[in-house]
Amino acid sequence: MEPSNAIGSDRTVVVGNRVELQLLTTLKCNLRCSYCSLGVGEVLGSQRHAAYSAEQLETFVRTHLADKEVYITLYGGEPTLNTKFALDLMERFPGHRFNLQTNGTLLHRVPEKVLRRLSNIMVSVDGGEDVTDGFRGKGVYRKVLENVAAIRPKVFGTLTARVTWWSAETTLADLDSLARIFDYVYFQFAQDAAAYSAESLRRKKLVLAELVDRFFASDALYPIVPIMGIVRNKVLPSRINELSAGLTQCRVSTNLLNVMPDGKIYPCPDMLYVPELQQGDVIANWVKKSPLQPHDAMPCKGCEAYHFCRGNCMKNLHLAYVMNDGKWRSQVTEPTCDLIRFLGEQVDRHDPRRWFAERPLPDRRKIADAEVYEFCEVMP
Ligand code: SF4
Ligand code: SF4
Repeated sequence: MEPSNAIGSDRTVVVGNRVELQLLTTLKCNLRCSYCSLGVGEVLGSQRHAAYSAEQLETFVRTHLADKEVYITLYGGEPTLNTKFALDLMERFPGHRFNLQTNGTLLHRVPEKVLRRLSNIMVSVDGGEDVTDGFRGKGVYRKVLENVAAIRPKVFGTLTARVTWWSAETTLADLDSLARIFDYVYFQFAQDAAAYSAESLRRKKLVLAELVDRFFASDALYPIVPIMGIVRNKVLPSRINELSAGLTQCRVSTNLLNVMPDGKIYPCPDMLYVPELQQGDVIANWVKKSPLQPHDAMPCKGCEAYHFCRGNCMKNLHLAYVMNDGKWRSQVTEPTCDLIRFLGEQVDRHDPRRWFAERPLPDRRKIADAEVYEFCEVMP
């Protein structure tokens, strides 16, 4: 067993007062999305059920996280394939908040008891109907929206569309229609070289500029999380320090623990295939500080976007500048950073400080403190 670093005795293991336990309760999935990151290193389907018990998880939480507010994200694979485990956890941890990350196709089967306990449900789509069905299978988009409409009256929390923005075909209208159906839309730039041809970058920038224009022109708050987050970080920079200690806002360097079905803990759910990134084990009951940290080789500190971005995706940066994958750097990390800088420039064109000062108080509260920031990566 590795030396145990109890939080109470070493407060640097998890930074801040909150910690997200992202539980990959099963790596099974009922879809086969063409770009699934769990396909890397044959992770997908390799661990079918959680090998640790809810009791072992409770012991881990009591040993290491006793002085934290713990919230749990049910993740997979597809976590709705294992709702019994979710119910066990909900009963064992009555004070914890729960978030569900799902492909949405089985939401109609999730027991009402589970739905009502969720603070947020993140539903994965890839943009509009054609693009989503192209990646996920024919009919998936409609099925997901049907399910969302069916469960809406049964949920107390928020419903968030999580868009992996891969396709150059994704339009403002696609994202806008999601913003009308869901409480929030979170988009993340796809981590795939094929998503960043010069033409694809050009088209993505057009849509980003339109999205930002619409955000600042809307009477009601336009609930596009990365734009909300960038505005928050520009207007209220101290908030970046509150949830992720001024580091990457997906929390991998500070307060996110991904627990694999076999109990092993990693900082990033996309890098479960890199053994040296293991940072703990629920069954062996140990945890250490996240090994996925900013590194001198990363260019962020000298970047004009650093004040709001804070290292967007540590996986991208780690692969590009620590593991020195030149192809990844030029084909994924640099184009993504280009889009982030562009997004920041578009926000600046609209004088976000003045806009914020003139918004009604409920909107300012949401920009400052929306709970959804804790459930997604905030930056794209
Ligand atoms: S845009 Fe890229 S280089 Fe700049 S701060 Fe963000 S991740 Fe770092
Ligand atoms: S944003 Fe990047 S580093 Fe953070 S959890 Fe996602 S893939 Fe991992």
